[in-house]
Amino acid sequence: MSQVNENFLKLNASYLFSEIAHRVADFKAANPEADVIRLGIGDVTQPLCPAVISALHRAVDEMASASTFRGYGPEHGYDFLQKAIIEGDFQPRGISLELDEVFINDGAKSDTGNIGDILGLNNRLCMTDPIYPVYVDSNRMAGRDDIIYAPCNAGNNFVPSLPTERVDVIYLCYPNNPTGTVISKTELQKWVDYALANDAIIMYDAAYEAYIREEGIPHSIYECEGAKKCAIEFHSYSKTAGFTGVRCGYTIVPREVTARTSGGERVALNPLWNRRQCTKFNGTSYIQQRAAEAIYTEEGKAQVRATIDYYMENARIMREGLIKAGFQVWGGVNAPYIWLKTPDGVTSWEFFDQLLHGPNIVGTPGVGFGPSGEGYFRLTAFGQREDCLRAMERLSGK
Ligand SMILES: *Cc1c(COP(=O)(O)O)cnc(C)c1O
Repeated sequence: MSQVNENFLKLNASYLFSEIAHRVADFKAANPEADVIRLGIGDVTQPLCPAVISALHRAVDEMASASTFRGYGPEHGYDFLQKAIIEGDFQPRGISLELDEVFINDGAKSDTGNIGDILGLNNRLCMTDPIYPVYVDSNRMAGRDDIIYAPCNAGNNFVPSLPTERVDVIYLCYPNNPTGTVISKTELQKWVDYALANDAIIMYDAAYEAYIREEGIPHSIYECEGAKKCAIEFHSYSKTAGFTGVRCGYTIVPREVTARTSGGERVALNPLWNRRQCTKFNGTSYIQQRAAEAIYTEEGKAQVRATIDYYMENARIMREGLIKAGFQVWGGVNAPYIWLKTPDGVTSWEFFDQLLHGPNIVGTPGVGFGPSGEGYFRLTAFGQREDCLRAMERLSGK
């Protein structure tokens, strides 16, 4: 008799976005004239930049002739992209990496979800709360559910405390989705020191690194002393360059990162991840990788920057508008997310209904990202400028 992986049956139902869609649909059915503004959108909306579009066209043309056609590529990615990544994202920050430490992927969701394949089932995990749900769910699917949460809220100014009990694998995401908050280099160094002292590994999700504006905020965990011994870092071009539909990113697994066998022997994780990818991952297409390479050209950098500037101007408008309207807000300075405290102690879902039925604005209830998100609400800066402006006017009661 075939048996199911019962771990899937223990997952919490992920009803957040379907429940939002449901409530918005009901409201629109009852109020057909209402002009609903969506500020909950978690996807980018601006098109790919011209440098990326030309690179895509060129790569497609190469596929049309036998002399330049490409078939199966290397599972860990083409070296032209690995080199561009090392020279563009790491060398300027004083971080040196070897080509075989850079694994090209089809986005950070896949790798943050799959990395658990190379780890034992008995690791105790630590995650901040609220959090991107992929880290929790992917571990639960594997049967790993010994998870400790580090709450992030206004009380600790969204700086999580180090665990007081021993943990083995730590998931950190900065700039953070959903809270839009960042971690200083000094604070991040404390986590690295904890990992080194406790033989733990840090999974560092840097998907929003390109949104950092302020000095002193690390773009990579490898800016911290000793991090190459204990951290795996995930990057994505999804939010950086609008690749949510193109699909490309990369993961850094330094050669020095190790974990132990049950017998206590130290094993390097880089060859294990390489083996995992060679067996289970087909690589990202040549066309996608040429598109990603174009992000590192001078025009590409400037064009990608301009799009991020557009979103960050949205964030500024929303942040200032919300503050003016009397809300307590975080994020929106080094991240495209704005996290606000719901007024008068109403719950996240009550506030969702108030915003929908009052100013006709849709956002995301904070509790959907974990219990510490209760009493908070997420807005994103990925919308159209006009919508951000109109939404802020409505909130200020004009
Ligand atoms: C959007 C996002 C990613 C990137 O996902 P892709 O699979 O690369 O599109 C990764 N981590 C977080 C926290 C995100 O919000």
